[in-house]
Amino acid sequence: MSSLYDCVVCLKPIKVAPDGKIRIEGIVKHEKQWLWGPYPVHESCRLNIRTIYDQLLGDGIHVAIGFRTPAADPETAELLDEWAGATPGSVAKEWPGDWSRHVPPLETPWPEFTDLIDLSHNHLTGLIAKRGSSEAPAGTALAVHAAAAGKRVLLFTGYPPQLTRPTLVVDETHSPTPDGVSRAMQSVRPDLVVIERWERMHADRPVGGTRADVLESIGLELKRAILDHGIPCVVTTSVLGDVDVQYPLLHRIGLDSPAAIMVEFCNPLLLLKRHSPAEVLVRVERHMSMQDQTVHAVAWKS
Ligand SMILES: [Zn+2]
Repeated sequence: MSSLYDCVVCLKPIKVAPDGKIRIEGIVKHEKQWLWGPYPVHESCRLNIRTIYDQLLGDGIHVAIGFRTPAADPETAELLDEWAGATPGSVAKEWPGDWSRHVPPLETPWPEFTDLIDLSHNHLTGLIAKRGSSEAPAGTALAVHAAAAGKRVLLFTGYPPQLTRPTLVVDETHSPTPDGVSRAMQSVRPDLVVIERWERMHADRPVGGTRADVLESIGLELKRAILDHGIPCVVTTSVLGDVDVQYPLLHRIGLDSPAAIMVEFCNPLLLLKRHSPAEVLVRVERHMSMQDQTVHAVAWKS
């Protein structure tokens, strides 16, 4: 079968699958208006999609949508036509500017992890680990490492690190609120914000419903604050019992748990599980516009 479309990432032709389908990915606003795409993409290239809208994903308005659709389908052609005339190559070439926006991420103590967590955007990143494990305080380790490299870091934690750094500002507020975090960002002007055990947070205004509803609203408020200030932020939580990196997070934990609610507003969202004394397995639950769900072994010294 001849190739109808080129991949938005690598620009190479996409082979239509035996079932006649191709994958397309895009970003939608308010559940109906396409803001970016949809564009055809190789399955293997999906994780490398970067768009100018990535930082907005998870704000409750912008959503990444991807699906497989019949390549010869008139509806598919119409969808793609709307954006790029659907001639091979034109789709990807339409957006050369997107690629120059990628800046090197802040370094972490673990080089392979630096690429996975990608602290270069205004992203609200989530980390989940087993309570009491050596990787549970990963957020504090990130904060100390970045501060040691001269970055200004604002760290919210009940357990301040032993090592102090001139550029590390530790906030020990018992239960911070999104407004409080926002005000602290305003005054400290950090390069990175880390909030350990984000479920300690409280809402600024009364929110109806269950504790899970309150936490979800806190997450979305936090997301808005991060977007307003344009600073990358890491929030962490820990779970009782082992972290299982082989299956999707929501298959294994209660939908009301802080870890599950992080799916709503964290991007990327990473699960950490000790694999050996020298390695941690990192499950990428979500990355940029993708539901990634790959597992990486990362060299990790605590
Ligand atoms: Zn490709």
